[in-house]
Amino acid sequence: MRVFIAGFGTETNAFVPFPTGHRAFATFGIFRGDATRHPPGSMSGPLHVWRRETEGRGWTAIEGLFTFAAPSGITSRAVYEGFRDEILADIRQALPLDIVLLNLHGAMVADGYDDCEGDILTRVRQIVGPDVVVGAELDLHCHLSAAMIRDATAIVIYKEYPHIDPMDRAAELFAICADAAQHRVRPVMARYDCRMMGSYRTPVEPMKSFVARMKSFEGKDGILSVSMAHGFAFADVEDVGTRMLVVSDGDIGKAERLAAQLGRELFADRHNFITRFLTPDEALDRAGAHNEGTVVLADRADNPGSGAPGDSTFLLRRILDRRAGPTLFGVMWDPIAFQIAEEAGVGATLDMRLGGKSGKVSGDPVDLRVTVRQIAYGVQQPYGPVMSPLGDLVWLSSDLADIVVNNLRTQTLHADAFRALGIDPTRYRLVVVKSAQHFYNGFAPIAKETLYVTTPGGAEPAYTRLPYTKRTTPFWPKVEDPFAG
Ligand SMILES: [Zn+2]
Repeated sequence: MRVFIAGFGTETNAFVPFPTGHRAFATFGIFRGDATRHPPGSMSGPLHVWRRETEGRGWTAIEGLFTFAAPSGITSRAVYEGFRDEILADIRQALPLDIVLLNLHGAMVADGYDDCEGDILTRVRQIVGPDVVVGAELDLHCHLSAAMIRDATAIVIYKEYPHIDPMDRAAELFAICADAAQHRVRPVMARYDCRMMGSYRTPVEPMKSFVARMKSFEGKDGILSVSMAHGFAFADVEDVGTRMLVVSDGDIGKAERLAAQLGRELFADRHNFITRFLTPDEALDRAGAHNEGTVVLADRADNPGSGAPGDSTFLLRRILDRRAGPTLFGVMWDPIAFQIAEEAGVGATLDMRLGGKSGKVSGDPVDLRVTVRQIAYGVQQPYGPVMSPLGDLVWLSSDLADIVVNNLRTQTLHADAFRALGIDPTRYRLVVVKSAQHFYNGFAPIAKETLYVTTPGGAEPAYTRLPYTKRTTPFWPKVEDPFAG
């Protein structure tokens, strides 16, 4: 058997003012056939699994392009087409093939392409023909499109948020595709539109049990895989929203029935499944009610992992104005501030202008007198089974809050990230991260309580107000009963 493996993607936020170009991909690496010769990252992990599984069976792995960009605005057309065509050329060169396995995020939008992954899978299918097995792994923040379902043989989506399971899902996709290539199974897929938009946290109930329930159907009665595409709300595409996906062995009716059954269960209990967000003042009131311990505030709307800049000041401003108590605010993406603080050096006290630099979604910059306490370079932080880069950090201390500024636009995933600077986050009453949920496992051990905050940032979960123009079916919460009529 000859197995082709590659990976390409990003998560596109249509509502932020900075496009995704070549630099965004180069920042996290462009690997031409050698991603698996480097340590596994959160996105390259699946390729490692596929190579290991392929070679473990004595089959041949052929590795193509691997590159992922951090979430941000619309991907430029030339950059998308360039990388896409590289993968297609890699596949043509690798023919004849039995299996093609692609790690695609599932929410990349490029100038001229609303459904990049559907476009890629359609073109791959045209090249390899109807008999080659084409498997795709997607992030649960994807837009599950008709083209993806039509042109992939099987799709498996992450089940966990935080995403601790891409490598487990990669192994499952491999098993399905290997069986299909050996004619042991005939995967068929059905999707179900739950007609809802939301954010769902799988480490806590009731989502935890829902994930267990999805898994309970797998591997029996002809059901090969069950996925929930949570969806990525910050995109103006036809397929934006939450969907169920079921892969069955040759029985499309069975797949359709189970997808609909699970989708209806989710919708029926939607008020309990979704994350509730607090305003900054609600969150600070609630945090203030604790007499001891550290409360973690997640600034969901400025999560770089959702394409927001990571330099917004809405929450920082309220914390300073309210003198909310010992606060650790970080990381905040501000490469200019990092450079100024680095130049001033450890021990220097200076007036700095922090954040608020990327547009309206960043708010106004904050002027603050700070002391440069420590600098750390090339910081790595744990994220599930892998390490993830956080860039260079500087610890700025003021009378009202300590702020950690970095120069790589990405989110804080673990409390240990601050230890590179000598900071013990448990010494603070408030710790603020710019993250929607990926931080959760890495901060749960130190958090007396975790609060989810919304601000007017680039990933504000204002599902009733987002200016969608392409989704044609109604959805909750914009419409109270989207199934009526
Ligand atoms: Zn995701």
